[in-house]
Amino acid sequence: MILKSGKEILEKAKQNGYAVGAFNFSNLEQLKAILLACEEMKSDVIVQTSPSAIKYMGIDVVVPMVESIAKNLSISVCLNLDHGKDFDLVKQCIDMGYTNVMIDASDLPFEQNVELTKKCVDYAHEHNVSVEAELGSLKGVEDEVVAKESVYTNPKLAKEFVEKTGVDSLAVSIGTSHGAYKFKGESHLDIERLKEIKSQIDIPFVLHGASSVSDELKSMFIASGGEIGNAKGVSNQNLIESIKNGICKVNVDTDLRIAFTTGIRECLKDKTIFNPRDYLLKGMDMIKEEVKRKVGILNMK
Ligand SMILES: [Zn+2]
Repeated sequence: MILKSGKEILEKAKQNGYAVGAFNFSNLEQLKAILLACEEMKSDVIVQTSPSAIKYMGIDVVVPMVESIAKNLSISVCLNLDHGKDFDLVKQCIDMGYTNVMIDASDLPFEQNVELTKKCVDYAHEHNVSVEAELGSLKGVEDEVVAKESVYTNPKLAKEFVEKTGVDSLAVSIGTSHGAYKFKGESHLDIERLKEIKSQIDIPFVLHGASSVSDELKSMFIASGGEIGNAKGVSNQNLIESIKNGICKVNVDTDLRIAFTTGIRECLKDKTIFNPRDYLLKGMDMIKEEVKRKVGILNMK
């Protein structure tokens, strides 16, 4: 098998106290830039597609595209469904060759979340695919996932949830949110809550909405002609602290969207350019830099 399961990659990270970057993509350029940057860093990677990214690319395209690049790399690559909302899509992705799936039934009542998650776990495990689920929910907008308020993960319920469903990894809600505007003031995560969850459960944890929206990235975006207001992401310090306390998968989408767009817009300032490869390559270069920066932080101890 060319692609590795999420469980295989994340258990290794858990044993060794680092986190693996899980980067979203919607096209060949983003995917290729992510994989090549991780290969340069010799760092395992999870690439993932949201349901709307699948709709955009066509599911038939996704798996062959990832496999055909991954087969020439030395690192382990996992393909994950990000925020699958129903069994049908989860099953479809598993049948197509995804090696990890997330079932996000976090907006359902607890018992229904358990029931749907367990159904996905049973099917996935029969096919050697691992499963991520979510308990508690994050504020913000991730494609079609919209939530007004965060509900932080309850440690006791989380233990019961993991025991009843047999999930391989758990997305926890400890203060991050989806999108570019995460904090009004300083970046802050509920590390005490994470410690409590970790004391109850022995599986890898996942941090969603973990983009940094760094000042450096913001100023490059603005210099290219972009507008981003008072966007604020998760500080490196918070990321490192969360990894010390059990986060093994760090989801990043916004940062790479900003990087890609910055590279392209900067390049298109030259009004004579009309070959898409010229500006797409600049976008890819920006993604590679951002991925390498991020992977460096995730491997810090
Ligand atoms: Zn998410």
